[in-house]
Amino acid sequence: MSLPDGLAERLAHVLGPGGYLTDPHDTAPFCTGWRDGWTGQTSLVALPDTTEKVAEVVRLCYAARVPIVPQGGNTGLTGGSQPHDHGREIVLSTRRLNRIRALDLDNDTMTVEAGVVLQTIQEEAARHDRLFPLSLAAEGSCQIGGNLATNAGGTQVLRYGNARALVLGLEVVLADGRVWDGLRGLRKDNTGYDLKDLFIGAEGTLGIITAAVLRLFPRPTDVQTALVAVPSPTAAVALLTRLKAALGDQVTAFELIARICFDLALELIDGVQDPLAEPSPWYVLVEVAGHGEPGTLAEPLTDALGEAVEAGLVTDATLASSGDQRAQLWRVREEQAEVQKRAGASIKHDVSVPISRIPQFLDEAGAALTAAYPGARLVAFGHVGDGNLHYNPLQPKDADRDTFAREIGRINRIVHDLVVAHGGSISAEHGLGRLRRDEAAHYKSAVELDLMRRIKHALDPLDLMNPGKVLPPQG
Ligand SMILES: Cc1cc2nc3c(=O)[nH]c(=O)nc-3n(C[C@H](O)[C@H](O)[C@H](O)COP(=O)(O)OP(=O)(O)OC[C@H]3O[C@@H](n4cnc5c(N)ncnc54)[C@H](O)[C@@H]3O)c2cc1C
Repeated sequence: MSLPDGLAERLAHVLGPGGYLTDPHDTAPFCTGWRDGWTGQTSLVALPDTTEKVAEVVRLCYAARVPIVPQGGNTGLTGGSQPHDHGREIVLSTRRLNRIRALDLDNDTMTVEAGVVLQTIQEEAARHDRLFPLSLAAEGSCQIGGNLATNAGGTQVLRYGNARALVLGLEVVLADGRVWDGLRGLRKDNTGYDLKDLFIGAEGTLGIITAAVLRLFPRPTDVQTALVAVPSPTAAVALLTRLKAALGDQVTAFELIARICFDLALELIDGVQDPLAEPSPWYVLVEVAGHGEPGTLAEPLTDALGEAVEAGLVTDATLASSGDQRAQLWRVREEQAEVQKRAGASIKHDVSVPISRIPQFLDEAGAALTAAYPGARLVAFGHVGDGNLHYNPLQPKDADRDTFAREIGRINRIVHDLVVAHGGSISAEHGLGRLRRDEAAHYKSAVELDLMRRIKHALDPLDLMNPGKVLPPQG
């Protein structure tokens, strides 16, 4: 499908040379997801490099009733950032909207445009002896606009909160092309509805985030990382409670990893090593960070782990003694997205339950899935310190990939029913996009869905902002 007459020319005029793509060869990467086969079509990718150009593109599309798919680094995992197959949407990439606008070290804030890559922000903060704590395996490619639009989580939520907690202000281009300048660097502002929180986590369905004021933190001077073997998820949860009691909010990461994740990484990824002498059914990757002399936290961490060994919660552990070793310990965890891509058909779940319910959830889900699919491999890992699990049943070794993949509806029902029964959420950090849109609608109350639809209608009455994502179309 092409765009309405004359629109492509008007957009090209606004965006200027280098500001748009129309050749199918060039637009194809913007139409394909990082995994899971999300693809679509578009006849134009807009690459504006200023907020004013974003606003002008949106105004032209609003007048012509053409929907827009905002896109950052295109690392989202739920089919939210690709256009649909019908080809009537344009993609608006923030790739060139990539300036750091301001740094206010006394206020501990950095003002950045939406297209700045997350890692660039971390590096810029570090250059000024500050920490921007949002951290995830896609940080070299994902952009802050996408991080905020998905309310990204990552490995340090336990200490610093998710993306929402790291933002003080936003600039947003609204569905009709007006610009809302909410770029305030305030920690206190009680002047009515918190509009920025509407756009954070909205996955581009309410407007296009063009800039943000981010919170910075003192940079830890001492970081200690340990890989810990534990006999069970129950032991892992008890260990977390102990570590928090001993080390308080210096515990910044607590990642549970099932043995199968190591087995698959050893088989499928070059250079991965088994860090402990004996295999263990479960592991925890623990990180603590503080502001004392480098190495100060090694002793309290070792002591706390030693006490946990005596209590039968830990069977073995290794502490990284260098940056390289730390990277090695994180490797298996960070390679999991790639591992899952290569391992066969796996049905992805990104769920959260109260931390105290994790062991029971894992027991019940494991029993139900093994009964329904004998031989299915129960891949489980995640940010357990936040109650978040990536729970991805993988096809039995000799099963047919497509046959197992077609079981997605039944497997989702088994897993998500249990999640909801334990008071959890069916999307802890990746959002809904298209992948989990209908599942969320299945579990949300009529009241909650109605509120969401009213907000959508108030801010985007023509349904032009990333339509078909987050909320199912109304029949
Ligand atoms: C290897 C790997 C590891 C990952 N680990 C994690 C993890 O630990 N935690 C986690 O939360 N996620 C994780 N993700 C998912 C993904 O990286 C995050 O969702 C990330 O925040 C997406 O950023 P992006 O710039 O790539 O956004 P995109 O994928 O481009 O877009 C994501 C959504 O946001 C919308 N959007 C993008 N930019 C804007 C904007 N400026 N304004 C409005 N809407 C916009 C898009 O329309 C889409 O709906 C991982 C992904 C990979 C590939």
